[in-house]
Parts: sequence; structure tokens; C-alpha cells
Amino acid sequence: MEKIIDEKKQGESLVIEQQKENDRKLYIESYGCQMNFSDSEIVASILSKEGFNTTQKLEEADLVLVNTCSIRDKAEQTVRKRLEQYNAVKKINPSMKVGVLGCMAERLKSKFLEEEKIVDMVVGPDAYKDLPNLIREVDEGRDAVNVILSKEETYGDIAPVRLNSNGVSAFVSITRGCDNMCTFCVVPFTRGRERSRDPQSIMEEVNDLWNRGFKEVTLLGQNVDSYLWYGGGLKKDFDKATDMQKATAVNFAKLLALVAEAQPKMRIRFSTSNPQDMTLDVIESMAKYPNICKYIHLPVQSGSNRILEEMNRQHTREEYFELIDNIKKLIPDCGISQDMIAGFPTETEEDHQDTLSLMEYVKYDFGFMFMYSERPGTMAARKMEDDIPEETKKRRLTEIINLQQKHSLLRTQQHLGKVEEVLIEGNSKKSNEHWKGRNTQNTVVVFPKENYKIGDFVNVKITDCTSTTLIGEPVGYSDNN
Ligand code: SAM
Repeated sequence: MEKIIDEKKQGESLVIEQQKENDRKLYIESYGCQMNFSDSEIVASILSKEGFNTTQKLEEADLVLVNTCSIRDKAEQTVRKRLEQYNAVKKINPSMKVGVLGCMAERLKSKFLEEEKIVDMVVGPDAYKDLPNLIREVDEGRDAVNVILSKEETYGDIAPVRLNSNGVSAFVSITRGCDNMCTFCVVPFTRGRERSRDPQSIMEEVNDLWNRGFKEVTLLGQNVDSYLWYGGGLKKDFDKATDMQKATAVNFAKLLALVAEAQPKMRIRFSTSNPQDMTLDVIESMAKYPNICKYIHLPVQSGSNRILEEMNRQHTREEYFELIDNIKKLIPDCGISQDMIAGFPTETEEDHQDTLSLMEYVKYDFGFMFMYSERPGTMAARKMEDDIPEETKKRRLTEIINLQQKHSLLRTQQHLGKVEEVLIEGNSKKSNEHWKGRNTQNTVVVFPKENYKIGDFVNVKITDCTSTTLIGEPVGYSDNN
């Protein structure tokens, strides 16, 4: 599953190739979404030029960085517990410095230094280039904070080092920030206004990945469909662009076509789409290029028109169905997944039933489902009472999850008997005799290794399935090798 990084990966410490001349040790851990994991690669790249090699041993680190997530209260609590553990290690190694990166850093700013005595440095998501200066401050015994959000920073000029990479698939950031202002969501406050990265630098990164043997890229952004490059500047200022800038602007559909044509044997994925911004030309680009994977993560959050409006999602249930119908018309075998929130303020049983009936209409391949968590500063927190009892939220979430599991099984069963192209990513979790990869719809496929190797595109006949995994037998290399 793609959207939120695998639970197992949460808090994973990252290692990169050691530089002989580097003599300081960096321990870097990441939580939350793919964007955070991708940002940690940018941070490691910046710090490798500052004399740091990565380590997986917390006790020997000179600098500990934790890249944090604020999306739900639980995510923040996990990091707070982790900070306590760093504190214990710091007692043994008092010269160790600790920095908080990412969304929690941005949300709590210098409060972090007061609240969490353990923290020496607080760095927001747009301030990573300032890390060398901030580390110097900390080395000289001062606390250091930079949480300035930028209108321009896209880190387009930094080649991220690939951390803990399987050498097959990589993330490429294409936008930063978000302008959507969903009332439940903290992202616009922690990651700033939406800006798009120069397509030239995206293409350079993709081409470089291909030359280094990578076979799949995921174009990343909080809302990729909103990508718009017109020579720089914020999305919201596009109206003020010159006629020339408007005529030569690159939108997401064009960017997809550029990347797909530049590397026709490379698989292209993207995440996340927002229904309000997903236009027909994006679906047409997907249908046109065989190397763009037939999978869309399309969060909806609720099936009730009233709740969608309260959430400021800017589309109705009916418009969402129209989008789904268009996707299925142009790409009949497209995999679709969802994000859903149970128990948003004022949600009634009828609203909840609307969510279940929307799910029945779409029958998603998989989903990421959450209980509503009030986030300080968001419009919902300011204007609405978090009035759905915990028990009700839990029960509704369970009903949503149970229905999703039923649909997931239904979807995986539709692959039975088919021969599908799978890109091998690594060992199967359960057996060293089997490879694990994904088909175009992003469903995990497991099959015997035979003589195939990581990075091969293999045709696999699907013989069995669970609700999350397809099981098969390899029948030969696909044409894509
Ligand atoms: N911009 C992306 C999007 O629209 O999917 C990413 C947003 S967030 C990183 C991923 C998911 O977390 C959202 O789609 C939503 O389902 C969930 N989420 C966001 N804020 C939440 C909140 N306050 N309570 C519960 N879930 C939340």
C-alpha cells in the first residue's frame, strides 16, 4: 500500500553510503507520509556535505534528527514517546544533539524547545538548507530554530540521496505545500502554500534515477493534480502570469506525458490526487501511456454532501461519482484507493450511511481509514466542536474498515487467472523463497523466485489471493525489460 508509509517503516532509521572523509554520525528517523521520507533524503544529502555519515546506532550518534508528522494526535504522541527515549540516551552521551524536523516542528515552533528539554534544534519543512548554520549554532551551545515557510523552496536543486533504497523505486517531489484548506487538515499550516517544481529539474532527477538502475518513480505532492509550472511562483498567483507564461505553462497532465515519454520503460506512479483538482486530461494521459501505472489514490473522506461541504472538500458526492465513472470508462482496470475519516464533527448516522453507500458504489481496491482527530489551528477546530463520542467514532471506523476488507477481497479476486506484469521489489515478507512486487494497480504480488532478480519486470499468472495480496507463478519476462 502506498499512501501512508508502511507501518513497519514508521520510525525507520536511514542509512546511506558512507563518505570516508566524514567524521560525524547522524541518526535520522522519519514518521508520517511519503513526503517526509522523501524530505529525509534531502536532509541526508545536505548533511553528507557537512561531514555527517548516517548510523543506525542511536547511542553513537552526534546528531539525532526526527522527521515528524502532525496529521493526527496519535502521530504526535508517537514522536513525543520517541523523544523521551532519546533523552535516556542523551544521559549516557551528553554531547549528542537532537533536532526535530517536519510538520510538528512547524506546528509547535519554539514551544518545542521549552516543552521538550531534550530538543536542541527545531527545523520546519522549508528550512532544511539552513541546517548547516543551525548545526553550527547548536555546536556553539545555543538552541536553534528555523520554521520560516517559503513561497519558493522546492529543493529542486538538491539531488536527494536514496535512503534505505531497494534500488528499484524512488520518490520524486513535484509540489510542496497545499492550498486546499480542508477544514480538518493541518498540512497548509505546517507545509505552507502550494508551489510546483520546475519540470526541467523533475526530468533531470527522473533521468538520473533511470541511469542509476531505478525502474519506478512516484511523483509526490500533497495534491499532485494541482501541479502547475509557469516559470515559478505560487499556484494562487497564476492569474497574474503573462500571456507567454500561461501559453507555455505545464500542468500535471503535461508533466505526466513528459516523464512518460522521457523514460518509456520506467513505471510512473503519483500520489496524492484530490478529486476537486483531478481533470479529464490527467486520466487521458494515464490511458495513453502504458508506463503510467493504472492506479489512483483518490481520498474522499466522506460520502455525505453535507460533511463534504463542512470539510471544504469543494466537490459533491455526485461529482465524485462522475469522476470515478470517467476513470472507469477510460481505464476500465484502474485500481482506486481511498482515505476516509470517521466521526467528523456533526456527522450523523445518515451521513455515515452515505459514506458506506459511496464505498459500495466505488468498491475501492484498498483504503486508509482514520478516526477524526481534532488538530489545533484548523478551521474545524476553531469553528466546530469535536462532538462525536469516541465509541461512535470507533464503531463507524470499524464498519468502514470491514466494508473495505470485503471490497478489497472482491477486487483481488478479479485478478485470479490473469497474467500480470510485476516489478520485483524484494523478498516476500513471509518467505525467502518468494519475491514481492506490485502490479500496475499497486497490489502486492508474491511468487516463487526461480531465476528472476530484483528490478526485473516479470509476467505472473495469478493463482490465489487474500484481501491484500495476490499469489502467483511466474511465466516469463515481460516486454518491458
Ligand atoms: N493532501 C493529501 C490528501 O488529501 O490525501 C494528504 C493529506 S494527509 C497526509 C492524509 C490523510 O490523513 C487525509 O487524506 C485524511 O484522510 C487524513 N487526515 C488528515 N487530517 C486528519 C484529521 N484531522 N483527522 C483524521 N484524519 C485526518
